Amino acid sequence: MQQPNRPSMADRAQEAPVIRTTCPYCGVGCGVLASEDDGDVTIIGDPVHPANAGKLCSKGLALGSTFQDEHRLLQPRVDGKPVDWDKATTLIARNFLDTIEQHGPESVGFYVSGQLLTEDYYVVNKFVKGWLGTANIDSNSRLCMASSVVGHKRAFGSDTVPGCYEDLDSAELIVLVGSNLAWCHPVIYQRIMANKAERPKLKIVVIDPRRSITADSADLHLGIKPDGDTLLFNALLNYLHEHVNFDEQYIDKYVSGCTKALLKASQSVSHDLAERLGIPEPDLKRFFDLVATTPKTMTIYSQGVNQSRNGTDKVNAIINCHLATGRIGKPGMGPFSITGQPNAMGGREVGALATMLACHRDLDNEHHQSQVQRFWQSPAIAKKSGLSAIDMFRAVESGQIKAIWIMATNPVDSLPDANRVAQALAACPFVVVSEVTNKSDTLAYANVALPVQAFGEKDGTVTNSERRISRQRRFAEPVGQARPDWWAVSRVAQLMGHVDAFDYHRPAEIFTEYARLSAFENNGSIDFDISACAQLSDDEYEALEPFQWPRTEARPAPIKANTAKTGQHAIRFFAKGKYYTPDGRARMIAVDSASPGNSQLSDHYPLLLNTGRIRDQWHTMTRTGYTPRLMGHRAEPFVELNASDALIHGINDADIVLIKSPTGQVFVRAMLNDRQPPGQVFAPMHWSDQFASQARIDTLIESTSDPLSRQPASKNQAVSIQRFAANSFAFLITRNEPQLRDCRNIEYWAMSPIEVGWRTEIASTLSVNDLIVQLLHFVYDGKRSSELQQIDYCDHHTRRFAWFNRQEKLHAVLFLEPLPVELSRTWATELLSKRFDTKYGRSRLMAGRAASDQPDKGAIVCSCFHVGDKEIVRTITSGECTTTDAVGHLLGAGTNCGSCRNEIEVLVKLHSKDMNAQSAY
Ligand code: SF4
Repeated sequence: MQQPNRPSMADRAQEAPVIRTTCPYCGVGCGVLASEDDGDVTIIGDPVHPANAGKLCSKGLALGSTFQDEHRLLQPRVDGKPVDWDKATTLIARNFLDTIEQHGPESVGFYVSGQLLTEDYYVVNKFVKGWLGTANIDSNSRLCMASSVVGHKRAFGSDTVPGCYEDLDSAELIVLVGSNLAWCHPVIYQRIMANKAERPKLKIVVIDPRRSITADSADLHLGIKPDGDTLLFNALLNYLHEHVNFDEQYIDKYVSGCTKALLKASQSVSHDLAERLGIPEPDLKRFFDLVATTPKTMTIYSQGVNQSRNGTDKVNAIINCHLATGRIGKPGMGPFSITGQPNAMGGREVGALATMLACHRDLDNEHHQSQVQRFWQSPAIAKKSGLSAIDMFRAVESGQIKAIWIMATNPVDSLPDANRVAQALAACPFVVVSEVTNKSDTLAYANVALPVQAFGEKDGTVTNSERRISRQRRFAEPVGQARPDWWAVSRVAQLMGHVDAFDYHRPAEIFTEYARLSAFENNGSIDFDISACAQLSDDEYEALEPFQWPRTEARPAPIKANTAKTGQHAIRFFAKGKYYTPDGRARMIAVDSASPGNSQLSDHYPLLLNTGRIRDQWHTMTRTGYTPRLMGHRAEPFVELNASDALIHGINDADIVLIKSPTGQVFVRAMLNDRQPPGQVFAPMHWSDQFASQARIDTLIESTSDPLSRQPASKNQAVSIQRFAANSFAFLITRNEPQLRDCRNIEYWAMSPIEVGWRTEIASTLSVNDLIVQLLHFVYDGKRSSELQQIDYCDHHTRRFAWFNRQEKLHAVLFLEPLPVELSRTWATELLSKRFDTKYGRSRLMAGRAASDQPDKGAIVCSCFHVGDKEIVRTITSGECTTTDAVGHLLGAGTNCGSCRNEIEVLVKLHSKDMNAQSAY
């Protein structure tokens, strides 16, 4: 077979002006080259960006297809009616002024997002903390890394990530804790895999209750019980001490608290440690030995650590091991938290959490309050922590907060106990929502909706997980009346009377002010210092190269051509102490070993739900959900569960199931596999009411938080599961998006865009005949029956319909059965692009089968080249391919972004085994 015939993206990028910018999805912060030509956007990796050196994952590569103007919010709206910006901003200013006058500054709140650019973040934070005088501003970053922030501050005195990506290239042991890096931060994962290929001695350990796709390529997977991490790392600390691995010199010079931390750690160790953790004893010993004997150890962690009732303690238990061994701030070693969002780190720097001031100043530090207020010359300054995300929406519910402004986030889907959040917003007197899309569930609760600029239109900076600030540049004209977020906030602030302080015209003005604040009375006392950027001209700002902070007069510019991989010189912290604590020493923290598991399990709720992301989706799908190539990977909301649990609960593979918790319920598709340990299930958090009837996973999550970081525990929820006893099932293909959202009497539907049209899976307690009646409405979609020609097929089980328009083009196809509809989805999803001008073609359509020369692709594995799992398995079982590379050579799969290579690897291992077994037989 030939390599797939595909357009050269590099060639296309040369046709239009190419702009260097940064991917808007995850905290890896990959550089991209973008060009726009008459609405056609081309994206490739930026070969000289230090974060990715030209690589992109499937989401980054599909960015060009996410520019869909039909889903954009184009004009401000008040109570659903279009207005101009003047009217909308005047209304906001008047409402916020009135509310504050009547109820004080604590009666307003701002819920912002790691999708904002630093310049947006800076202006809104300045407005709220300096001019409104409250700290009631929190970022949705609270949901992804607040525990790391608090853990860093406890240990280092500052929220500093000590290392950098370059450490991956010299580390000899990489420990991934609570991180499905292969799907959530694919470019970092691929860098590790490239290192592993080059240096086979590099060892990878994955610590995760489920055997994620990342764990498949690890040398060792420790499937610990949920929330067992503090116990595990306390035990590791104890082991390192017993085996004389502590760096006594480093501890003497730079660390305090070691004795107490060790005492606490030793108390948690017992002879049945492995059993308490749920890990085989030899695996535990192997892990301890690997860490003990490998000085160049990196511990990378993300949401599995942070999103926990004891997330901060987990972070400190990890950091303790690095401090005790002096493995920090040197090449190839250190603790490393990876952020979820593209500018979560920028929000931390700028102070957009309710618990901090700008530029790494502390809210509870009077000197810092004075510094920031004097720099801003503001009439007020927040003096105590504001309400963090969950508490803010509780305050909306209780009526304390009477006006809230939500920017670039979708809390009705993404916050825990999401139904309660929706109810709180419904009762709130004044809700402002700044949005890019008109398809956000939160928008339904807005009194005022503001259209803001999207990726490609925005202009500013973001900071990635390794403290690298990069420009996100504009390469497309804003659509409709979309404006920058910083502009909308400045406009409202000015209308409230603060004219001079918010007289911003360009992002460069904001960035240089921010840089000046970072330097203000700093003198090395605060880690975050970008004073070298304080005097940038507009042109210099425009041309700003990606750089790691600190960037001061002493360290003014990136040093070029230092290493072949990045071309830059990596900046690390703490190899020689100099922590930002009062005595300059790091603090090891004595942490309790929380009991693994979940005490909320009961007969009613016997299973633990773990939530997370999938490879090709982003947050609540407002951008990625409308891209067929990304939806092809997983087209429906699903839950993964172990076959033993499925047996107990009477569930078969691909059944629709009802999951319940004390706070909500969802309908999703069951996927049986052995990745989930018995007693635990996993469901992705992406689906919203825009794509499924009831699949908002965060409606299931109770609002338990870490007491120190206030970060919600989203990975350890007690739930029940049962098979949904449907009487009818349907599979519907339509040319237009079916408007099923108001259809309350169909329990399960999930729709997904396909290359031409939409596919929808349906299950209902209605009879087949009653379901037909319901669905015809969506099929006709406003057309008269005389406009469509219908053909159908009926036997005592099956009903099949197809409709053609007057041009003889297929308009819709509907398959119904009392049992799940069995037909090839890849065949069916290509129907709307085919011609049915012969009797034979139409009869094949009614037969529900592809022609024999069109074998089923199966579920899409490679989004770049649209290669399905059945297609790959055929090449393996036929003996054509025995390796991942061979599959890539034959089908192209895995040869572009590489995000699917792990999944191909799994298929090769699984089906090569089948082959071997057959030949042995
Ligand atoms: Fe974007 Fe993927 Fe890079 Fe993350 S890893 S920044 S999603 S291209």
